[in-house]
Amino acid sequence: MKISLQDQVVLVTGGDSGIGRGISLAFAEAGAQVVVNYNSSRDKAEEVVAQITGAGGRAVAVQANVGHEDDVTRLFDETVKAFGGIDILVSNSGIQKDAPIAEMTLKDWQAVIDVNLTGQFLCTRAAIRRFREQGNRGRMRANGAILCMSSVHEIIPWAGHVNYAASKGGIGMLMRSLAQEVAPDRIRVNAIAPGAIRTPINAEATEGAAADKLLKLIPYGRIGDVEDVAALALFMASDLADYMTGTTVYVDGGMTLYPGFEDNG
Ligand code: NAP
Repeated sequence: MKISLQDQVVLVTGGDSGIGRGISLAFAEAGAQVVVNYNSSRDKAEEVVAQITGAGGRAVAVQANVGHEDDVTRLFDETVKAFGGIDILVSNSGIQKDAPIAEMTLKDWQAVIDVNLTGQFLCTRAAIRRFREQGNRGRMRANGAILCMSSVHEIIPWAGHVNYAASKGGIGMLMRSLAQEVAPDRIRVNAIAPGAIRTPINAEATEGAAADKLLKLIPYGRIGDVEDVAALALFMASDLADYMTGTTVYVDGGMTLYPGFEDNG
């Protein structure tokens, strides 16, 4: 079965890199028109746009800091200006600023919360406002679909990363509360929780000796690729998942199966 997002408009925050890049390319291949949001990496965003347009698709790159309210307003305005509306938001942008708790600065705490949690609040709010305003555009069964990028750290505690883990735990309840609130509007809200996926955010942990250590946490025995996440995102954004809302789906090679217990604990 081939999944089609023909003529649907998708905004992917952090669409220039890693998982967001994989989703931008996969959605474009499925027929979507893609807004590739980036914060600082203009060249990377332009490269994704060039790849999509080179293959006959439609895409634009739009800079915006998802933690800034005015930027997010402009990002959605430019999305509508470019493609006439929006059908899918992939709220994906995220950062890490790791430190043991005694050394974690307020600045590092705030920076992660601003992008990972407040950024998703601002983007999902803007998407819901647009979805309500435009009604059903005749391209999908729902009146809009939102995918929030979470993490296995939505439920796995992570020492030395309390800002990141708190932001992803927050995404779980942000997503479920929103899903409950907007289901009567026929707007679907779900989350994807990846395990270890090879991208720039975790390059140090997924290469060389560090990768061997990481593999001990993954029963399935391999580190994930962005395509593993993109395939799931494609399904969850499409009409095939029209009855799905308020759910976090883990794509983690079994990381959340508590592999430390596989040998009787
Ligand atoms: P990545 O390659 O480092 O990508 C992060 C993206 O976020 C980049 O596109 C970056 O844009 C964007 N970004 C950062 N700050 C931003 C801001 N203020 N405003 C707008 N965009 C901003 O990392 P990734 O692994 O693909 O991560 C994507 C998402 O997946 C994150 O939410 C992350 O927490 C989640 N995740 C990743 C893994 C994994 O193993 N890789 C596992 C679980 C969850 P610029 O390039 O312009 O800076």
